Amino acid sequence: MKYVSTRGEAQELDFEDVMLTGLARDGGLYLPKEWPKFTDKDLSNMAGSSYEEIAFTVMKPFIGSTFSDEEFKKIIKNAYHNFETEVRCPLLRLSDNTFLLELYYGPTLAFKDVAMQLIGQMFELSLKRKSQKIVIVGATSGDTGSAAIEAFRGLEAVKVFIMYPDGAVSDVQRRQMTTAVEKNVTALAVDGNFDDCQALLKEMFNDFEFRDEINLASVNSINWARVMAQVVYYFTSALALGAPRNKINFTVPTGNFGDIFAGYVAKKMGLPIDKLIIATNQNDILDRVIKTGIYKIEDVKPSISPSMDIQVSSNFERALFDIFDNDPVLVRRLMNNLQSAKEFKLNSSEIKKLQDIFESGSSSEEETNTTMRAVYKESGIVLCPHSATGVKIALENNNDKDTPMVVLATADPAKFPDAVANACGIKPELPDRMKDLFERTEMFQKVPNDISHIKEAITKGVNE
Ligand SMILES: *Cc1c(COP(=O)(O)O)cnc(C)c1O
Repeated sequence: MKYVSTRGEAQELDFEDVMLTGLARDGGLYLPKEWPKFTDKDLSNMAGSSYEEIAFTVMKPFIGSTFSDEEFKKIIKNAYHNFETEVRCPLLRLSDNTFLLELYYGPTLAFKDVAMQLIGQMFELSLKRKSQKIVIVGATSGDTGSAAIEAFRGLEAVKVFIMYPDGAVSDVQRRQMTTAVEKNVTALAVDGNFDDCQALLKEMFNDFEFRDEINLASVNSINWARVMAQVVYYFTSALALGAPRNKINFTVPTGNFGDIFAGYVAKKMGLPIDKLIIATNQNDILDRVIKTGIYKIEDVKPSISPSMDIQVSSNFERALFDIFDNDPVLVRRLMNNLQSAKEFKLNSSEIKKLQDIFESGSSSEEETNTTMRAVYKESGIVLCPHSATGVKIALENNNDKDTPMVVLATADPAKFPDAVANACGIKPELPDRMKDLFERTEMFQKVPNDISHIKEAITKGVNE
């Protein structure tokens, strides 16, 4: 399988190089040249299989010959063996035909583990084979960073630097990033917001000299391998709820458009997904672009769902490329507008194409709180604030009794105890394996929102 950049000016790569690189050298994102397709019969054959077996079948076409079948099966097995449940990503019934897809049984309590644990295993095998060393730099709104640190800590061939917005992540999120004792990980507290961190990361990737000097790699959701890993749970959940016999709707709390794009990919591969609903918090750029065609960057408004406090939604570029018939010229024009004017506008036929695939809604802080409280009162189920944005928007749109609605539950509520306590009046407990989190020693470097300072810190850390 070959991969092309959304901006059409970078070299085509195979899976292994796409995975190890992250961002394309023309500033674009990689996508497979064609989409693997499953027939209804293929889907029926998959139903009833384990998470690992379905993962293998769904992802195999994307990885080409990068790993042998035996190797890839082992990678998948190692990636998920420490998830706290045998099903890996279980469904929980919320009401009649609304279900939560719980994606947070991995080591850092958020859905990012599903992809990151797999990537850790794939990187390890691939780098060992190539006798290569790599430097991973990541930008995080909270959960990617801890998931990356957890997946790569202690690996010899990898050094990890994670930039997070100082003061804008929850205490649990921060401690998960700053308490790893392994020497190969460094947490960088940036004096800025998540979009600043993401912009710094992009700038680093566009400095080819620096990029090549340290062999820079990214595991942000711009990395195709992450999207690929997330496609799997759309299959496992839809099959568990009767696909391909019946259709399934999904509502996805999203910020960077990674998780919802994975749902779009699943649909392209033949999974009978009817509605794909985008749920945002008060940072609603994605809701606005679906409704009006205007993608306009505003200031980030900090919310109780910090992992979705994003304005520049990187993976949206992938959707634009695919929906507008793989046209890199169009993507380049839109992205140039975004760069120069902080916005772009789609025409009416383009808006219609988007609306044919995605619906959307946003949840204010008050609505998110009210949803958490109401769900807890009615069912005893405690939602994290991100999942609550999804539930709120799903319930508004769930008027088709015959089609199950699945809401992606993206984090364990214990990761956001203050928001939960505030809404529900209870304090969710951390799982046993994390009980000592608040006793561990924190280590991090404070850095200004300035590219040369940060590059220097990274270079110094690499050479230590
Ligand atoms: C990252 C994250 C999201 C948003 O995911 P995207 O990949 O940006 O769509 C939602 N909820 C939680 C808990 C997250 O960590």
